[in-house]
Amino acid sequence: MAWFKKAKKPIDADPSKPSRVPEGLWVKCTGCSKILYNKDLSQNMSVCPKCGFHFRMGSLDRIKSLFDGEWTEYDRDLMSTDPLRFSDTKPYAKRLKASIESTGMKDAVVVASGRIEGYDAIVAAMEYGFIGGSMGVVVGEKITRGIERAISTRRPMVIVSCSGGARMMEGALSLMQMAKICAALAHLAQERLPYISVLTDPTTGGVTASFAMLGDLNIAEPGALIGFAGPRVIEQTIRQKLPEGFQRSEFLLEHGMLDLIIDRREMKAALARAFRFMGQHPAEEVETAAIPAEA
Ligand SMILES: [Zn+2]
Repeated sequence: MAWFKKAKKPIDADPSKPSRVPEGLWVKCTGCSKILYNKDLSQNMSVCPKCGFHFRMGSLDRIKSLFDGEWTEYDRDLMSTDPLRFSDTKPYAKRLKASIESTGMKDAVVVASGRIEGYDAIVAAMEYGFIGGSMGVVVGEKITRGIERAISTRRPMVIVSCSGGARMMEGALSLMQMAKICAALAHLAQERLPYISVLTDPTTGGVTASFAMLGDLNIAEPGALIGFAGPRVIEQTIRQKLPEGFQRSEFLLEHGMLDLIIDRREMKAALARAFRFMGQHPAEEVETAAIPAEA
């Protein structure tokens, strides 16, 4: 062996690959390539303090970031039964088990009630870490029950989407969830209760094609990928180059697909403002108003 030569070549970092969020102390920002201290990042709601790039956020962190304090989670233990006994490169049952272990959740959505700046509300937050946030029977059922709960308790509904679309391992059953959730939302609209859709990176496929675009207000986070089919599929189909920034929040806002783009750090205040605008009253106001009526 040579004395002054390294026997093994060092591994070259691939600059073309975007860095993913590691579990270590430091994170490289995808937006500005600066190195960020992980703790600073999580204290800043996973938004880069230097350039404002929005990292993907877990569903529990999302719930925490929106509610004032305590919240109540619903239907935590609903689980998919793998109705088709589906298997692709891996059996679906195994994928489910791996996701349950890695996320500590039973499926890809958390539905909870709590207060947003004093306003009682029901929030459903999707979890991308669970099979790409895909919408299967359980996600559909949990969101639908959340909407029904919003109707019975007269509260506004917020759905934070973060999903690759319908869960193909549940076939047509997952597609039926689109109609089911939309029907529940129509009922909510008849009851004249607000529904606000928050679209985060990424919101695609059957989720965009159903409830994510049905909000009384459709609010997106900056720079989020929002679309139905992916850009590559569209390019191959129409045989044309897509414009710059296609399917990003800013492009969609400009073209009338969205109502607002709001920084994650301002989201809670914006939701409360929207509730007020839509005729909702803060919970304490409702309670004090109820006392003289009962006396
Ligand atoms: Zn940055």
